[in-house]
Amino acid sequence: MPPSRRLVGAVRILAPTDATALGTWVGVNQHGVAATLLNRYADAADLPTPGTVSRGLLVHSVLMARSAPELIDRVRRASLGRHQPFTIVAIDSRHRCLIGDWDAREFEVDRGPEVGLVRTSSGRDQAEAERSRAAAFADLAKDQRPSAALLAAFHRGHWPARGPFSVCMHREEAATRSLTVVRLRPTRATMWYWDGPPCHRPRVARRTLTRSR
Ligand SMILES: [Zn+2]
Repeated sequence: MPPSRRLVGAVRILAPTDATALGTWVGVNQHGVAATLLNRYADAADLPTPGTVSRGLLVHSVLMARSAPELIDRVRRASLGRHQPFTIVAIDSRHRCLIGDWDAREFEVDRGPEVGLVRTSSGRDQAEAERSRAAAFADLAKDQRPSAALLAAFHRGHWPARGPFSVCMHREEAATRSLTVVRLRPTRATMWYWDGPPCHRPRVARRTLTRSR
């Protein structure tokens, strides 16, 4: 569901809602901290074990953090055994980017790259999707500086071809269901949301969140 403003504890956040579990997979808060979560299908059991909790509820619960390191710390201290494998990316207004990987046994944290493709997720072939999408991004970005427009075009595009490995993904049984773009400014965060495969849907929602001083 499109982004809406709500409270996590006393912290204002802006995030789309996963209609099934009522959590989210991407969000930003009043402190200028943004986070997103990718499923790690290759590490996941075919069927969730009883007691498994939606990863989206985890993202929602840690979005009260005041910085990217604090957000990752909150994930580390959560009961991770209840969640299927995931990758979480945390970014803050001091340009810190941290990537945490939970493989159902360990939670490992890396500093993200300065620019470029951070990570991707695929239910078909994770390694091939990462290789193919990284190559497409390198090709697209070789003649221009990364920008919000370039990133949006990349996520709406079909390199090398429309199908399972394009970023705007299409398979017979699945497809990209939405695109969310977050922009952080000193006074506000803005979120754009495409509700559907972003290659052929117009942008349908734009929401802003005032930053706290
Ligand atoms: Zn598409």
